Amino acid sequence: MQTQLSRRIAALQPSATLAMAAKAKELKASGRKVISLSLGEPDFNTPAHICDAAAKAMAQGKTRYTVASGVPELKEAICKFYKNRHGLEYKPANITVSNGAKHCLHNVFTVLIDEGEEVIIPAPYWVSYAEIVKLAGGVPVIVETTEASDFKLTPEQLRAACTPKTKCLLLCSPSNPTGSMYSGEELGSLADVVIEKDLWVLADEIYENLVYGDNKFVSFPTVRPGLMDRTIIVNGVSKTYAMTGWRIGWSFAPADIAKKMGSLQSQETSCPCSISQYAAIAALEGSQDCVKEMCAEFSKRRDYVLQRINAIDGLSCPNMRGAFYAFVNISRYLGREYGGKMIETDMDWCLELLQKKGVATVMGSAFGAPGYARLSFANSMEELKQAFDLIEEFLNDR
Ligand code: PMP
Ligand code: GLU
Repeated sequence: MQTQLSRRIAALQPSATLAMAAKAKELKASGRKVISLSLGEPDFNTPAHICDAAAKAMAQGKTRYTVASGVPELKEAICKFYKNRHGLEYKPANITVSNGAKHCLHNVFTVLIDEGEEVIIPAPYWVSYAEIVKLAGGVPVIVETTEASDFKLTPEQLRAACTPKTKCLLLCSPSNPTGSMYSGEELGSLADVVIEKDLWVLADEIYENLVYGDNKFVSFPTVRPGLMDRTIIVNGVSKTYAMTGWRIGWSFAPADIAKKMGSLQSQETSCPCSISQYAAIAALEGSQDCVKEMCAEFSKRRDYVLQRINAIDGLSCPNMRGAFYAFVNISRYLGREYGGKMIETDMDWCLELLQKKGVATVMGSAFGAPGYARLSFANSMEELKQAFDLIEEFLNDR
């Protein structure tokens, strides 16, 4: 009998973030109390005016297939939003609305990358990037960054990683999993290398609205002239408006690329959910107070989480500038016993913490950074407090 699985699928790793969240749910279903700091998903409900717009769309019969790449009203709303916010003059023809930002990433790499072409991905990286690149036939080239450089890629590192096969650089700022964020100046220095080496850039800017303190988000194509022609921005409503289940993301790309992504979508998924598209219009056109309120709450949690981490001897974590994750260096707590059991790796540490104390986190190795654990602070203050009390108990259980 022939092998059943294609080579691409046989090599595919499941998403570690979703796998840890599923493990936490399983344990919960068995009756254990579990606090999940695994999944990066706002714990807030989608704001009422957005849900109302969805109900209205349904009542008006907007429940059929739409244009494959998204309804024109939503594309207009996205363009207007970007023009106001970043001064970028995108047209509806540059936009593809998809089933979440993850789907946008699949579209981008499928349309952009030929077999064997390389995509530079700075580590720590979000779990899905390398797998999506490989599925598209591309080769992820991982470049390690350090805690000392705030987990940011330098222009020298970028230049050194380029080969004749390099097609694209992937940048995620603010970053999942580290919370670091590039300044305009830093992006400018990277852009100079991008232009010199004639690269494409995929700028994942999905956390752009979740930025703390006086840190300022800068959108990649704004830092040098001409970058809009070689950049694809990925964004969406999932994080900003607490709409992870609605599955709406979008990309901005040069029109010929956007057109092909629309064709791809027309063959693969027909269109994004019609009702969710109308909800997304309400999100972009409605009051942005809900975003400010959620961000203020995340900001308080971020301060609290940082303070708890810094109070534990031997743990370290860079200041999170954006997103809602703490990327904690646990290496000093590896290679020792916990309640008589030897724990060597970040994976074992995370599994043991879940088993023993019911706190779910994600191992750094899933993000290309062994020796770390990612903790999502998209959880209530009360749960965060309980989780850190339990983590402290765990660490002291020699
Ligand atoms: N990019 C990053 C960096 C993310 O953290 C996520 C989280 N899911 C996504 C893309 C995908 O978002 P969506 O839920 O809209 O598919
Ligand atoms: N992006 C979120 C995370 O990193 C959601 C899970 C996922 O899409 O993998 O936890």
